[in-house]
Amino acid sequence: MGFEAPPDFATDSSSVILSSVSYVFEPASSGRSKCRGCVRPILRGELRFGERLPNPYADGEMTLWFHPLCAAYKRPEALLQVLPETDAADRDWLERAARGSLAHRRLPRIDGAERSPSGQARCRNCRQSIERGTWRIRLVFYEEARFNPAGFVHLECRQVYFETNDILDHVLHFSPNLSGEEREELRRACSTNRAGPA
Ligand SMILES: [Zn+2]
Ligand SMILES: [Zn+2]
Repeated sequence: MGFEAPPDFATDSSSVILSSVSYVFEPASSGRSKCRGCVRPILRGELRFGERLPNPYADGEMTLWFHPLCAAYKRPEALLQVLPETDAADRDWLERAARGSLAHRRLPRIDGAERSPSGQARCRNCRQSIERGTWRIRLVFYEEARFNPAGFVHLECRQVYFETNDILDHVLHFSPNLSGEEREELRRACSTNRAGPA
């Protein structure tokens, strides 16, 4: 619909991707889009952020849709491209969230937290195994228009790995399935050793 590939479309995919990305910020016209950040549906009429880019896997283009806050946390530089031109009521708050995420290069990798279901995974920070039943933070890497699973870090390794202790909002935001009790537990764990390792 109105999109025309440049004549040299196939020559250099990375520069084409960079030069032909466009951004949208609009109320969702249907309830069918899914957020790439949290994998939950975006409700009809809800504000959504879209990154429109050439599809790296097929002809044509694709749009990655996000809840605005999910984009602020996981695609901060992209969201900041369009935010100044919108008049969203939450603009200042979203901008603060995006700048906060951008301030530490690994924060956009946070994909939530969970109790480790086995003792098999190793921590990406300290390389030690993550004991069954203990808290771990899920990581994703953004590559080729996808968020790919990228392992875990111990909750205790957060400060060293993320270079900040200010991760709780990100972790809770991407852990919609945790119970109130579990969220409270995480909150406590993140506040106990603020001053450094216990
Ligand atoms: Zn989302
Ligand atoms: Zn660790």
